[in-house]
Amino acid sequence: MSTTSAFRSTSSASTAHDASADAPETGITPGGTSGPFRDVLAKDHARRGKPPLHFADLTNEERIAKAKELGLPKFRVNQLAKHYYDHFDVNAADFTDFPAAHRGQAAQTFFPQLITEVMRQVADDGQTIKTLWDLFDGSRIESVLMRYPNRATLCISSQVGCGMGCPFCATGQLGLTRNMSTGEILEQVRVAARMMREGEVAGGPGRLSNIVFMGMGEPMGNYKSVMSAVRQISAMPPDGFGISARNITVSTVGVVPGIRKLAQEGLPVRLAVSLHAPSDELRDKLVPMNKRFNTKQVLDAAHDYYLASNRRVSIEYALMRGINDQAEHARLLAKRLNHYGDNWAHVNPIPLNPIEGSKWTASKPEDEQQFLDILHRAGITATMRDTRGQDIDGACGQLAAKVKNQQS
Ligand code: SF4
Repeated sequence: MSTTSAFRSTSSASTAHDASADAPETGITPGGTSGPFRDVLAKDHARRGKPPLHFADLTNEERIAKAKELGLPKFRVNQLAKHYYDHFDVNAADFTDFPAAHRGQAAQTFFPQLITEVMRQVADDGQTIKTLWDLFDGSRIESVLMRYPNRATLCISSQVGCGMGCPFCATGQLGLTRNMSTGEILEQVRVAARMMREGEVAGGPGRLSNIVFMGMGEPMGNYKSVMSAVRQISAMPPDGFGISARNITVSTVGVVPGIRKLAQEGLPVRLAVSLHAPSDELRDKLVPMNKRFNTKQVLDAAHDYYLASNRRVSIEYALMRGINDQAEHARLLAKRLNHYGDNWAHVNPIPLNPIEGSKWTASKPEDEQQFLDILHRAGITATMRDTRGQDIDGACGQLAAKVKNQQS
């Protein structure tokens, strides 16, 4: 799928009265199934409808209005928020502070089941758990919970599939089906927070501390829902899960207007840019989005994000054998980053987790080491990214792709 088509303007269908007709084509969408992303959605997306509205999708006023329809006073909404964000509860049986007659109805209305576990894979002695989820329309997404000695990180999905079309990526091969709702995104977080609390991850009970938007999808392609999720993840209970915004990472393949918009949100989230190549010539082949926003535009925006947020930017770089993992690539990457000054970026090379039967394969260990050494010698902070879950199809989209293949 080409990214040029991903951002083809839809304005031909607009009228002079449509304010969006004159809006510049930005590459970010407000969310939903309209706008520039519409034409990369799967053909049957319209038939799928919208996920049921969830507590997390509603403003406080909307929650109060809905509660009123059920005959519940305003303070019951605060109780529900406490159940959801503080105790991770959505079951009527847990709402013991509610009149028994209203528990079931409140649970059904505010907490429809949005994600249902299809399959769980466990690795790293029980410290990595990858879950494949079924959504209301049969779409599949995944999340990965990884426990470390001093933190527990959840990698979540924000779209069903991805429309960016990177040829080496399993999710890219699925194409984009639809954006996920805020409720669907947040439910991944709530379930993982509960799993940590209940001690379902090896190491005993603990706390979910970090969130990375690096699962399926391009977060900037579902900007509004992602930002609403970020705010609800970081707000203190009972308004959110209380996970510090500093511990949230939003990744992008380089949607420059999205990076610039994120910089204006005033949230200290970390930005991760999937660069994968140091030159336009090479990146054009690996990341179709580069034809829209080139490496200079992406790095300029990433550096501006660093200046605005005072947070070091992560540069993600999937090492592919013989393609982008040679000494010349490392040297050019160091040069491009050092052009902006010291210490503003942290490079995370990661050995590619190859798709079965694909020509893109992981680098040789000696090439990985050489790549890292060259960056270090050039004064660049770089750490080989953890390859947690490699034995469970750990790269983004691979589990969903595998199950899909098995079923087709
Ligand atoms: S690498 Fe990221 S942006 Fe590219 S297709 Fe895969 S999920 Fe989408």
